[in-house]
Amino acid sequence: MPEHAVKGSSAPPSLKDADWLKRPETGRVFAALGAPGVETRAVGGAVRNALLGLPVTEIDLATTAPPDKVMTLVREAGLKAVPTGIVHGTVTVIAGSVPFEVTTLRRDVETFGRRATIAFTENWEEDARRRDFTLNALYAASDGTVFDPLGGYPDLAAGRVRFIGDAEARIKEDYLRILRFFRFNAYYGKGPLDQEGLQAAVRLRGGLDQLSAERIAAELRRLLVAPGALGAIEALYDYGLLTGVLGGAPRLMRFARLVAIETAQGLTLDAALRLAALAVFVPEDASRLAARLHLSNAALALLELGAADHARLELPDEDAAKRALYRLGQCIFEAHVLMAWADAGASPEDPRWRQALTLADRWQVPEFPVRGPDIMALGDLKGPVIGDILRELEQGWIEGGFAEDREQLLAKAAKLAGKAGRSAD
Ligand code: ATP
Ligand code: MG
Repeated sequence: MPEHAVKGSSAPPSLKDADWLKRPETGRVFAALGAPGVETRAVGGAVRNALLGLPVTEIDLATTAPPDKVMTLVREAGLKAVPTGIVHGTVTVIAGSVPFEVTTLRRDVETFGRRATIAFTENWEEDARRRDFTLNALYAASDGTVFDPLGGYPDLAAGRVRFIGDAEARIKEDYLRILRFFRFNAYYGKGPLDQEGLQAAVRLRGGLDQLSAERIAAELRRLLVAPGALGAIEALYDYGLLTGVLGGAPRLMRFARLVAIETAQGLTLDAALRLAALAVFVPEDASRLAARLHLSNAALALLELGAADHARLELPDEDAAKRALYRLGQCIFEAHVLMAWADAGASPEDPRWRQALTLADRWQVPEFPVRGPDIMALGDLKGPVIGDILRELEQGWIEGGFAEDREQLLAKAAKLAGKAGRSAD
């Protein structure tokens, strides 16, 4: 029996039937890294999620081969190897078009946040000890045998997110682990938070200030859309960490309502919309958060909805909703409806709000039937005048419930063009 396989009732089951282990791409990478004297296992999220029966999206591998040997073995096998983080022992291997992060077993000699002085090792338990939580230190061989050097499986089964080693010491090595503690609880936690981890996180919360915006944003984004996001956000609030993370005051009530609506309606979740509900009162909050967390312009547009005057949407008036859908596009329109719904405090099952939300399913957004060249063909008009005429036409068309057809609009355009021509003389 392999040295770390757990015996008894806490032994994890085999993953031999897991799809991702049986995929030909995975097989090719394991085969390439199965040279004599080399051992390679999947680790972290893939093993954890597979044991819970959850989808596996990315596969991280741990190997006893040093990184230069990984590069050689992988290339000899005809696969692509990219030295993405070679000083830390990480090589990205691409088989088919599937990327695998392959990291040589390591132990942290000294850790300062993201940077750590490391040493490569061939000892699986040492590699496990540098990881954050016991449920993230599970490994699977290519035949599906699961290895659990630190007793992570019973914790995973019980929904206990527990630091490996002394919680306080582990947080001091990398303050991001405070947020990871709440994030992993939001996904896998059951029952109360682990007291040792929680107390250490609260005591050391000041360390969050030292983290880079990108690292905070990456954790926050995942936390916000977790199945247990509401509980995690409430815990961050109750223990005095949330304001520091957001850089401002939270709107817990609206966040809770949005979560309830999205859950009741079975919607795909968007972290930026949830952040808008949670942290945006006025437009300045949106720009401050976007700058602080280095968010995209698309995310900023959603954040700004948090400060919008939702009363103007006049829900659930169908005509006003159609105008809004036409102007905003489906994505922003639906975000708008959700935010307004949460602001209104209506029931998450309210059929009238649902009706408004799903407008795009039953109403095809019309295309404005007139274009610039149509107006140009009406005579010798200057660019700005053409733009003015188009805008006026479109405005009237929207207000009239999109009823006018191309002929009617062109007739109207001809009159406007005539007027514009006369006033230019
Ligand atoms: P996800 O499904 O969210 O990607 P994951 O477990 O794969 O979950 P990653 O952030 O991708 O999480 O990290 C991969 C593994 O690396 C983790 O399972 C953990 O073992 C280790 N790890 C990542 N970040 C840290 C950290 N800050 N401190 C200690 N170990 C870490
Ligand atoms: Mg991962």
